[in-house]
Amino acid sequence: MRMSGIEEFQNVALGPFQKHRQLSIREAEIISLEIIELLCDSHCKDEATLKYLARLITPATYQDLLDERNLNKKCGYPMCNRQPERLRDPFSIDYTTKRFLWENNPYAYLSIYCSKFHFRCSQFYEVQLSDEALFARTGVHLVHNSPQEKKEIDEKYRIELFEELLRQKASEDDIKSLIAGLRKLGINNGANQEHKDDDQEMEEDLSKWLAEINIIENDKPSILGDLTKDDDE
Ligand SMILES: [Zn+2]
Repeated sequence: MRMSGIEEFQNVALGPFQKHRQLSIREAEIISLEIIELLCDSHCKDEATLKYLARLITPATYQDLLDERNLNKKCGYPMCNRQPERLRDPFSIDYTTKRFLWENNPYAYLSIYCSKFHFRCSQFYEVQLSDEALFARTGVHLVHNSPQEKKEIDEKYRIELFEELLRQKASEDDIKSLIAGLRKLGINNGANQEHKDDDQEMEEDLSKWLAEINIIENDKPSILGDLTKDDDE
């Protein structure tokens, strides 16, 4: 199973563009394609890698990445090496059908992700990505920034992963505030935004994941694989 770490993205995708601080539109496009290329049939080596990538990708690039990973029969979430729960023939489905299914099938996410947990992780990541075009993000592609610039970039494009949030909240037992926070970020169940059971469903999911995080944390920190195994439908 191939994994990609920060060094690989720096060597392969960013390496050729270290001579100048300002990327052209074309160069930014090449970098985006290289990142998708690297991740469409591998996964991030660690959480730090996925967090690092936030400085280089936009929500649009992320959507392209999801599509490419699905074409390769991979769960959309870039930390994952599993298949989506439900495989579909990518060529048999047009955009309108896809959209219809997404809006009308409450389990449509399972054709993109291995589990509801990774659907949520992915949503949580995507809503935090900056819309700013890559060529406009001066210096983010440089491997050796000055300490001051590095600090600024780290802060500006800092992203929290859903896994980190759960690990933090696992001890707090404050699910209602967690749900309120997620809602504020625009995270919901897609089509059924008006659905009355929505909050209850989210609450049940979160209780389950938090309980599992607690168990895993006590057992072996940082391995969250078990969370994706038994997703109910
Ligand atoms: Zn997954």
